[in-house]
Amino acid sequence: MNTHTSSLPELKFAELNLDPHLLKAIEKTGYTKPTPIQAQSIPKVLEGRDILGAAQTGTGKTAAFALPILNHIIKKPVRLLPKRTRVLVVSPTRELAVQIYESFLTYGKFTQFKASVIFGGVGQESQVRSVAQGVDVLIATPGRLLDLIQQKHIFLDGLEIFVLDEADRMLDMGFLPDVRRIVQLLPAKRQSLFFSATMPKEIQGLADSLLSQPVHVKVTPVASTVDKIKQSVMFVDKARKKELLIELFRNSELNKVIVFTRTKHGANRLVETLLKNKIMSQAIHGNKSQNARQQALDNLRTGKNRVLVATDIVARGVDIDQISHVINYELPNDPESYVHRIGRTARAGHSGVAISLCDAEEKSYLKDIEKLIAMEIERNKEHKFHSDSVEHARVISKGKAKSAIESRDNQRRFKSRFKKPGSKQQSGSDGAKAFSKPVPQHKLPPFKAKQNDW
Ligand code: AMP
Repeated sequence: MNTHTSSLPELKFAELNLDPHLLKAIEKTGYTKPTPIQAQSIPKVLEGRDILGAAQTGTGKTAAFALPILNHIIKKPVRLLPKRTRVLVVSPTRELAVQIYESFLTYGKFTQFKASVIFGGVGQESQVRSVAQGVDVLIATPGRLLDLIQQKHIFLDGLEIFVLDEADRMLDMGFLPDVRRIVQLLPAKRQSLFFSATMPKEIQGLADSLLSQPVHVKVTPVASTVDKIKQSVMFVDKARKKELLIELFRNSELNKVIVFTRTKHGANRLVETLLKNKIMSQAIHGNKSQNARQQALDNLRTGKNRVLVATDIVARGVDIDQISHVINYELPNDPESYVHRIGRTARAGHSGVAISLCDAEEKSYLKDIEKLIAMEIERNKEHKFHSDSVEHARVISKGKAKSAIESRDNQRRFKSRFKKPGSKQQSGSDGAKAFSKPVPQHKLPPFKAKQNDW
């Protein structure tokens, strides 16, 4: 793992002053030494300092805060108060919240503590019950947390430690107002830990308002996580991408694969194609119910499915071991998303493969990605769908590429929503309504991608 801390001596977990019960749990997980963010953060969190951590998932940051928090709970047991939590971790997505919860359970396996996880999209009753007698650790997504606070099922007085995870993702997903409201409810006396992969202005402002003399911890700048991943790009006409994808799946080495699309209904359509070709797959995106998302993740994890087709937002932070390949069926327009996507493979020391299918309009996206990662991605021309014309196509400006691609996505949405007279009805589970009469395309409102469309 590349870090800014290579000059620090390598520490062992045993040197971090952690309780033996935690060391035993760490040993059981098979970790041999702390990752750089753990080595830097754990001693400071144990001292009670605030942390401003520039780190993304895949760096071991969950353990970097979970271990010292559990240590605090072991060293200072208190009687829990009804509807209160001692530690609050706020996470942008349900999947990440569940993963953090599971990490606490793993690291706290030999520790007595109570934890609960709450998120929207499912009934609240069992969540309300789980906090009724008080908990040591509550992991929550912002919307549901505020809901339960408003309903007086949760109170934040008495909170000792506040963790804000993936703050930049909160911003991307439009959760910043919710997060600010939560921050206003925190008691003044508290320890705060703040993690974000990137530090845009708004996030820096939020960190400044939240933290008191924080220790800055910075590891694995986003662009260097790609070192261990074998990346390649294939130039292909957009009309032939599906065929190429199916062809790629002839290789049995692609056994646990995440395929990324730009839009939710693009993900659904691709799953239909894969299933028709007997490639077991499921989609995960913002329109899927919580249960469907969890099931899709579990089915990939257990090997029941070979493929998870995902859009960016939901996939960020998804932690599934030993993803063999990440395929960018469509390149993202935000180059950092590329790094996050391919970071789903090569996790925790494993190597991985990332293949990107690039059509003519996406070449400007490719250019931006290569600029960010400061390297040229290997061109793979050894496939029968290689397109010379795409390879040599002029890179159009990013703005033009974006509008061309958006209008293309729009047309696809149109096609899937408005069936041709006499054609078979679309079955998509994307909430797309089928209308009995086709609507002429020029009557459609202009497509403006909302956050929720990706
Ligand atoms: P995170 O950044 O918290 O999402 O963690 C990424 C992955 O690294 C997870 O699969 C963890 O189980 C794993 N991990 C965390 N700490 C260590 C460690 N010290 N050594 C090896 N793997 C780790």
